[in-house]
Amino acid sequence: MSAPGLPEVSCSACDAVCCRLTVVVMPDDPVPRHLVDRTPEGLDVMARGEDGWCVAVDPLRMCCTVYEQRPAICRKFAMGSPYCRSEREAYARRYDDVGDHVDAAPSPIPLRLR
Ligand code: SF4
Ligand code: SF4
Repeated sequence: MSAPGLPEVSCSACDAVCCRLTVVVMPDDPVPRHLVDRTPEGLDVMARGEDGWCVAVDPLRMCCTVYEQRPAICRKFAMGSPYCRSEREAYARRYDDVGDHVDAAPSPIPLRLR
């Protein structure tokens, strides 16, 4: 449910935009360790593919393949929250620019932000 005046947001109609963010993995997160990368600064994060998405994303359904084992930070990221909305808007703007900056297109997957 959205706050009055705000458009509806649904994970089922989204390109898993939050799964393109840096996702810090804590020692007690149950995520499979082969999906975790260590940054040069020594921080454990969810590994990301060349397309920019977390490697745990199912690219066909754009959903999490380790949902029950996902890191705590993923559990806290609330659908429709201000952070969710701002990331979706930034992502949509990036794709709106693709027509003018084709070389900058990160990947040709369809937009599902509506
Ligand atoms: S929480 Fe927000 S950004 Fe993440 S999948 Fe759901 S709608 Fe998309
Ligand atoms: S672990 Fe799952 S919910 Fe978290 S960023 Fe990766 S795909 Fe998204």
